[in-house]
Amino acid sequence: MDYPQPVHELINELKSLPAIGARSAERIAIWMLRDKRRNPISLAEALVNCEKEVGACPECGFFSLRGELCEICASKKRERNAVCVVEQAPDVMSLERSGAFKGLYHCLGGVLSPLDGVHPEDLRIESLMRRVDQMDGGEVILAIGAHVEGEATSNYLAELLEGKGVKVTRLARGLPVGANLEFADQLTLARAFEGRAF
Ligand SMILES: [Zn+2]
Repeated sequence: MDYPQPVHELINELKSLPAIGARSAERIAIWMLRDKRRNPISLAEALVNCEKEVGACPECGFFSLRGELCEICASKKRERNAVCVVEQAPDVMSLERSGAFKGLYHCLGGVLSPLDGVHPEDLRIESLMRRVDQMDGGEVILAIGAHVEGEATSNYLAELLEGKGVKVTRLARGLPVGANLEFADQLTLARAFEGRAF
């Protein structure tokens, strides 16, 4: 005695989500099927819409509507002479919630990790250099996690940015070693910004 195949497939899909174990996946699947008020079709449509309509900002790599600049790049209120470089798009959300920064961002899409096959050409480094070349002075803040690959990536970028006429800083105090920006609390991020140095 077992669930019909489509239910199995739904459970398997749910199980592949972060922080959802086998039991939770089963409970969610059954809840979706039994509680019609939840309308699982609208959930499915929301997923399809995200897949179809959401992409990466052509300028900074943050989430945006496909082919359009993200809200931050399009905003007239942001300081244009400061670019904060982060590993991943969700890091932007963490920094925005901290309220510490009013400039623009650049999402690398990861960190250098030759052992895992992540090389400079796999990250948004070329486009970062193009952006910096168009800047008239200003500052590039390397807000990359303080783990081994993060440090190596910051050092690599700092070298590339040398002689480009921008001040290069990096987040210093506040972030625990080994931490990802995504999971840091607002105060920690704000302190790290205040104490940025190179
Ligand atoms: Zn953008």
